Amino acid sequence: MSRMQLDIVTPEKIVYSKEVEMIITRAANGDIGILPQHAPLVSPLKITAVRVKKDGEEEQIAVSGGFLEVRPDKVTILAQAAELPGEIDVERAERAKARAEERLANKEGDQIRAEMALRRALNRLEVAKTLKK
Ligand code: ATP
Repeated sequence: MSRMQLDIVTPEKIVYSKEVEMIITRAANGDIGILPQHAPLVSPLKITAVRVKKDGEEEQIAVSGGFLEVRPDKVTILAQAAELPGEIDVERAERAKARAEERLANKEGDQIRAEMALRRALNRLEVAKTLKK
């Protein structure tokens, strides 16, 4: 199967850099599946999992919003934060979720910021579940 290079980069580091067969993620306009030789595209990315397929296996990376750039042979994701399943501190994400839920329940503070924090925490918890033991 043909492949394309996928790089997921944050201000701090290169989180992921591999040749992959398929990428499934959530762009601003909806879910998108990318195969090699996809038409060039630039789009904002939601707080979402990036699902990557190669050699019959799937890996997930948690991405906290950013930008997606697709070229026929290369996909780059620039994200504010991104973590592999094994890098996610589940207890920290549970605490962030509880804090955000409390702010939303009490209508306390910036509600949009609390909603975004909740989405980041839920996304991390979902991706952490895919950790291969
Ligand atoms: P918190 O309130 O726990 O800091 P957050 O969603 O506000 O969560 P971010 O601002 O998205 O955190 O990320 C700040 C940095 O901390 C990034 O480098 C991110 O990768 C890392 N990070 C955040 N939450 C976790 C987590 N649960 N496990 C591992 N790294 C995390």
